[in-house]
Amino acid sequence: MAKPRKVLLIYTGGTIGMMADPRTGALKPMDLEHMEDQVPELSRIGAALATASLDPVMDSSDMGPKEWVRIAQLINQHKDYDGYVVLHGTDTMAYSASALSFILNGLTKPVVFTGSLLPLGVLRTDGKENLLTAIEIAAAHQDGVPVLQEVAIYFEYSLYRGNRSVKTHAERFEAFRSPNWGRLAEAGVHIRWNHAALLPPRSGPLDVLDQLDPNVGVIRLFPGISGDWVRHSLGTPGLRGAVLTTFGSGNGPRNEDFIGALREARSRGIVLVNATQCFGGRVDQGRYQTSSAFNELGIVPAGDMTVEAAVTKLMFLFGQGLTEQQIALQFPQSICGEVS
Ligand code: ASP
Repeated sequence: MAKPRKVLLIYTGGTIGMMADPRTGALKPMDLEHMEDQVPELSRIGAALATASLDPVMDSSDMGPKEWVRIAQLINQHKDYDGYVVLHGTDTMAYSASALSFILNGLTKPVVFTGSLLPLGVLRTDGKENLLTAIEIAAAHQDGVPVLQEVAIYFEYSLYRGNRSVKTHAERFEAFRSPNWGRLAEAGVHIRWNHAALLPPRSGPLDVLDQLDPNVGVIRLFPGISGDWVRHSLGTPGLRGAVLTTFGSGNGPRNEDFIGALREARSRGIVLVNATQCFGGRVDQGRYQTSSAFNELGIVPAGDMTVEAAVTKLMFLFGQGLTEQQIALQFPQSICGEVS
C-alpha cells in the first residue's frame, strides 16, 4: 500500500478557526486541538497531518508582508512535506496567495489556501468541506508527482490559481472567483482537474525569495479625481511605485491637472502600473485616446492581472532590487501564471 502523503496544516487565523468566547460571545481564535475536536474526520483522512501556526494568529486584515514571509518560512522549514494547506482569513487571502506565489520560487508542491465564512464550530459551517477537500487536493498525486505544483485557493467546491483570485462576496459561501483564468479543479463527487489550466511542472529547488518592499500603493481612479489627491498619494515619503486602477481597458481622465500629477511622479522615478478596475478583462493601453498619455508617460500596463497580484508583484520586484527600467520590462511578464 502507498504511504499516506504528508500534509502540513498552517493555521494563520481567520473565521475558520474562531470560536465564541463562552463569557462574552465574541469570536476569538481557537487553538488547533479545538479545531481537531470540531472536525473529527481529520483523523480518518488518508493523509498524515501535522500542524504549524503563525504566532500570534490574526485576522487577515491585520496581515501583510511580514506574515507572508513567515508563512513562506514555515513551508521552507517543513520541506519534507508533500503538500501544505494554509488556513487563512478570507478578507486578504487573495493578496497573501498572490504574494506567496512570487516568494516561493521554484515551488513543485501544492500550497492550498482555504478558510471559511462561518467558524468550524457552527452547525452550518462551510469550513469543514473547505478544509477536508483542501487537504485532499494537497495530497493528490499522479504517478508519484503532485498534481498541483503552485499556490492555489480552494473555496466552495472550486480550486483557483492564487494569484488570479479575487474575493468577490462578503457573505456568500462562494466568496472567490478567478475572472481571467479557468478553475484549476472542481470538487463534486470526484475532484475534476482542469489539467490545461495548471502550471506545468517546475524543476525546483524551492528558493524562498523573501525580500519584499512595502513602499508601494494603489490609487483607484474615479470621475473627478483631482491632481492634488494623486500628487499627495504619490508624494508619500519613500514611495517607489503605485498601481493605478483605471477605467475599462485601462483608461483615465486626460485633463492636465491629473496627467501633470502623474508626470511629476514619473519624473521622480516612481513606477506606475495600469490595472483595470473592471472585474474581468485586460488593459489595452493606447487603444483609446484616454490611455495614450499613459503610454507617453511610460506607465506599465498590467494586462489581465488582478490588482492583488499587481500590488504584491510590485512589492516583490522592488524587493529583488530591480531598477525602475528593469521593473518596467519584467512587470508585464509572467512569473508564475499571474498574467497572460
Ligand atoms: N475577517 C476575517 C479574516 O479575513 C474574515 C474571514 O476569515 O473570512 O480574517
